[in-house]
Amino acid sequence: ASKDAGWNLDQSYSRLPNLLYKPTEPSKVKAPSIVIFNKPLAMSLGLNPDLLNSDEGAAILAGNILPEGAIPIAQAYAGHQFGHFNMLGDGRAILLGEQLTPDGERLDIQLKGAGRTPFSRGGDGRAALGPMLREYIISEAMHGLGIATTRSLGVVSTGEPVYRESVLPGAVLTRVADSHLRVGTFQFVRNWGSIEDLRALADYTLIRHYADVEQDEGRYLNLLKKVVEQQASLIAKWQLVGFIHGVMNTDNMALSGITIDYGPCAFMDTYDTATVFSSIDREGRYAYGNQPQIGGWNLARFAETLLPLLHEDEDTAVKMAEETLSEYFSLFHQNWLSGLRSKLGIFNEEPEDEALIAELLDMMQEHQADYTNTFRALTLNQLAGQVMFDTQEYKEWHSKWQKRLERQEESKAESQALMKRSNPAVIPRNHRVEEALEAAVEDEDLSVMEQLLEVLADPYAYSKEQKEYAILPPKDCEYQTFCGT
Ligand code: AMP
Ligand code: MG
Ligand code: MG
Repeated sequence: ASKDAGWNLDQSYSRLPNLLYKPTEPSKVKAPSIVIFNKPLAMSLGLNPDLLNSDEGAAILAGNILPEGAIPIAQAYAGHQFGHFNMLGDGRAILLGEQLTPDGERLDIQLKGAGRTPFSRGGDGRAALGPMLREYIISEAMHGLGIATTRSLGVVSTGEPVYRESVLPGAVLTRVADSHLRVGTFQFVRNWGSIEDLRALADYTLIRHYADVEQDEGRYLNLLKKVVEQQASLIAKWQLVGFIHGVMNTDNMALSGITIDYGPCAFMDTYDTATVFSSIDREGRYAYGNQPQIGGWNLARFAETLLPLLHEDEDTAVKMAEETLSEYFSLFHQNWLSGLRSKLGIFNEEPEDEALIAELLDMMQEHQADYTNTFRALTLNQLAGQVMFDTQEYKEWHSKWQKRLERQEESKAESQALMKRSNPAVIPRNHRVEEALEAAVEDEDLSVMEQLLEVLADPYAYSKEQKEYAILPPKDCEYQTFCGT
């Protein structure tokens, strides 16, 4: 590939201990063709969008041609899947390297669906077009919402079928990430590597993501603290927008604090803490209301891997880890509470705020109110046409809320501006996502998806165009999501 495409790849991961990865070439595909390409992201990476959004670009994003400087590898990791510990690894993703961007960032460039790897087990290493476009939509929507996430540079169709329950068109997604270091990466090294390997991985993680941490002997506890803080912040943001990850296995929790692995995720419509979309999550382990607690569970698994680095005396190490872990819930709660204050236009803190918030959420659950649209209606003060708003209970709550707003210095206009910044006017509604995917996959019509992406790029705009995207799906449609397609 030519240099003027802007590739500036390093592969620091391949300088880590050998057990952490396997050199793996992407499999060549028959007829790569770009389905969607993220021009603004390409530019921020220092890549030339016109050169890349081309036949040669398609060949690169499909894995047929390696960009200059690429050292393709599959990463090794383990993970607790629904609570059960397994050896995993990149079964269908190949890391080409890290793009060093004009802004001085180091970002993983990974091809998802690029063929079998030494970690594929029974899988075919492939991905289908629909799910890759779905990941593209949701990850870009998360970015628009201001939530740390992997990004999607593009999706190419391969011209080859993939065999699932039916025959589907194959595709490769180019995923861009702060890194793909996961809780499961540490679990893998703790189980199958040496203490030296573990230390090398921890030092690498610190340098890559937490360079501001002082590199003294307390650094591994600081690593744990940072990861705890990041997750407390990230999961609070998920809760605040009604995002359900769907498969919060420890291999899907990134140490950089970004959202990774868009499989069975979806946004909640009706507010119900028990909401689950994933077809395989029968017990609701990863239900909306469980996400904060699962975050804590995963962090405990991370802390366990660090014990030998924290202190030579195990009991002391355990105490140190527990102390740090115990801060997670209060950090989460602080983030969540301050986020909900903002969603209600509240600037300062009063002890009764929590009760005010709880009363609203209880009412929403009882009246099966739409999560996003309730806050949208409160923001716009458009309370007509929703059952909950007509109840006496709500009216009492409303006057309490208004009195609360009057007790702060900020004006009503400032309050509303805060609410607009904190309550998305649109989210990727499941029926809208499906509609976009159907047009793209079945009719090769990308216009529906492109329009959707446009409104999701600035969900806090409250523009005219967004109005129709706030319309709810028909009441009786049950939505289900799937893993590993
Ligand atoms: P996930 O639930 O998406 O985190 O995936 C769990 C594991 O299954 C990871 O190790 C994936 O790489 C692997 N995997 C998922 N789909 C495939 C596939 N089609 N071929 C090979 N491995 C896969
Ligand atoms: Mg995964
Ligand atoms: Mg996945």
